[in-house]
Amino acid sequence: MISLIDKLYHERALSYDELYMLVENRNKELSEYLFEKARQVRIQYYGHDVYMRGLIEFTNYCKNDCYYCGIRRSNCNADRYRLNREQILNCCNIGYALGFRTFVLQGGEDSYYKDELIADIVSTIKAIHPDCAVTLSIGEKSYESYKMFFDAGADRYLLRHETANCNHYSKLHPANLSLENRKQCLYNLKEIGYEIGCGFMVGSPFQTIDCIVEDLLFIKELEPHMIGIGPFIPHKDTPFANKSAGTLELTLFLLGIIRLMLPNALIPATTALGTIHPKGRELGILSGANVVMPNLSPTDIREKYMLYDNKICTGDEAAECRMCLQNRIESIGYNLVISRGDCVSI
Ligand code: SAH
Repeated sequence: MISLIDKLYHERALSYDELYMLVENRNKELSEYLFEKARQVRIQYYGHDVYMRGLIEFTNYCKNDCYYCGIRRSNCNADRYRLNREQILNCCNIGYALGFRTFVLQGGEDSYYKDELIADIVSTIKAIHPDCAVTLSIGEKSYESYKMFFDAGADRYLLRHETANCNHYSKLHPANLSLENRKQCLYNLKEIGYEIGCGFMVGSPFQTIDCIVEDLLFIKELEPHMIGIGPFIPHKDTPFANKSAGTLELTLFLLGIIRLMLPNALIPATTALGTIHPKGRELGILSGANVVMPNLSPTDIREKYMLYDNKICTGDEAAECRMCLQNRIESIGYNLVISRGDCVSI
């Protein structure tokens, strides 16, 4: 198995069967070896720098009904909110003063925000903070909408593919959502010129090792700039309330594999990882991740953007979140840097 990790390190790719074997036969010793190689690669490209993205969760209204997600349309216990243009701009100003140079506008698929409004918000942020990158994460839209946001100045787009296996996709989503469209959106975003991010939940219900291998091969083929993976965590008001969460161990192992597959990628140590283990994000960095995404949303709405149960940092001010993360990252010998944090070229 060690030789498979060496092969992945040198060739940045493995076959379906090799990836399957590696994931199936993983153990502590193998993981340690993988993480060492993953750190070596990330240090080669990014040194000990960790980039931060300020996450602004601007709406929890959503027209979709994904079975895993706490803000799904059918969850009538969700207390819905929307931030207006000024509130969003205010989050960016607070974030800028704290050293953030990337803002991620994330939300449910909420038709209240017409394309023109999103474009206006994006171009206003870019006019006020020309040295910052704006990332959108607002789900599946038409080619034309994506193009409009891009022309308004949006730099990046996060759209997790969720699973690269059609059958698995249909077990996580209602019939009106398809993997085909999700993938098409990612290809459209790439063609338009965005830096794109895909990703999936680790340990989502019905996920098998085959699904994971398909995810890894899809990521390799798409070659995104960013890959967001985090454990699935059940939410009490969803059809998956009684399913078990993904594990820290498997998430870290996959972070390591992805780092070796895409050496210069931007890979966050996610909030979900920090939720299932008190040192999850630090361990994520030590397994090959190089990005953190602290929350910039106003504290009074934090509790309402509950994608899953027990989400961390819902009570903290933006400044507290930033300082807390800085301490965590410095404690493992890395540096949180003030930078747009663009992808370096290979
Ligand atoms: N509407 C946007 C943003 C979705 S929320 C979009 O469609 O892209 C961002 C990510 O949170 C999702 O892509 C999903 O992978 C993750 N997520 C949702 N519910 C989750 C859960 N219960 N556990 C862990 N991650 C979850």
